[in-house]
Amino acid sequence: MCIRDRDAMKSEFISNVSHELRSPLHSIRGFTRLMLSGKVPDPETQREFLAIIDQQSEQLGRLIDSLLDMSRLESGRFQIQKQPVAIGEVIHDAVESFYGVASEKGMVIEEDIPQDLPEIEVDGNRVKQVIANLLSNAIKFSNGGREVKVRAELRDNEVLVQVIDHGIGIPEQAMPHLFERFYRAKDSMARGGAGLGLYISKQIIEAHGGRIWAESQPGKGSTFSFTLPLNQAQGGCDE
Ligand code: ADP
Repeated sequence: MCIRDRDAMKSEFISNVSHELRSPLHSIRGFTRLMLSGKVPDPETQREFLAIIDQQSEQLGRLIDSLLDMSRLESGRFQIQKQPVAIGEVIHDAVESFYGVASEKGMVIEEDIPQDLPEIEVDGNRVKQVIANLLSNAIKFSNGGREVKVRAELRDNEVLVQVIDHGIGIPEQAMPHLFERFYRAKDSMARGGAGLGLYISKQIIEAHGGRIWAESQPGKGSTFSFTLPLNQAQGGCDE
C-alpha cells in the first residue's frame, strides 16, 4: 500500500471515529441538559432518559476500549491471559449479556450449546469479547430478522462456535476484507461502527491458535464461525 493510500485510510478512520464518538456524546449531552433544565418532571420519563444516557455511555466506552485494543495490537502490548475455563459457561455468559439488547429490538437469541463442552485454556474475557462483537453485529445487521442463533460443537481437537443471523448479508466483494482494520462494507456504513471489531476478534482467536471466518448470502444472512483448539498450540499475535 502506498503512503497516499495509507494517509487516505488514516484520515477516513479519524473522521469515522470522530463521528462515532460524537453521536453518543451528542445524545448524552442533549438528554443531560433536558434533565438539568427541570423540564422533565415525570419520574418515568426521567428514568427513560437516564437509560438512554447509560446506554450511550456504554457505547462510548466500548469504542474507546476498541481503540485501546488496536493501539496495544499495533505496539505488541496486547496480552492474552489463559486459564482453564468451562468454555460452555463462557459462551453462555456472553450470550446472556445480550438478552436485553435483543429483546429491545423484538429479537430472540437461540442457544444451542452442548452441556458436555470441556474445560479449555483460554482467556475467558477475550473470548467473551469476540462473541459479543459477533453478536452485536448479528443484531445490528438483522433487518427485522426475529432470530439470531449461537451454537457450539465439540469436534476432534477443537470447539467450534457459530453466530448465525438472517440479516442483510455481506456482498461477495466485501468478504475478503471483513477482518481488515477499519473495514466496513459500503451498504452497511449507515449503521455505524469503526470497523475494528472483526479485526480485533481475529487477533484474539489467532492468539489462541484458532481460526475465524465468515460465510454469507446477501439478502439472506451471515454465519460467523471460530474455533478454539483443545490442546493449545503456542499462538501469538503477529503484529
Ligand atoms: P463495525 O464496528 O464497523 O461493525 P466490524 O469489524 O465488527 O466493525 O465489522 C466490519 C464490517 O463487516 C461491518 O461494518 C459490516 O459491513 C460487516 N459485517 C460484520 N458482521 C456482519 C453481519 N453479521 N452481517 C452483515 N455485515 C456484517
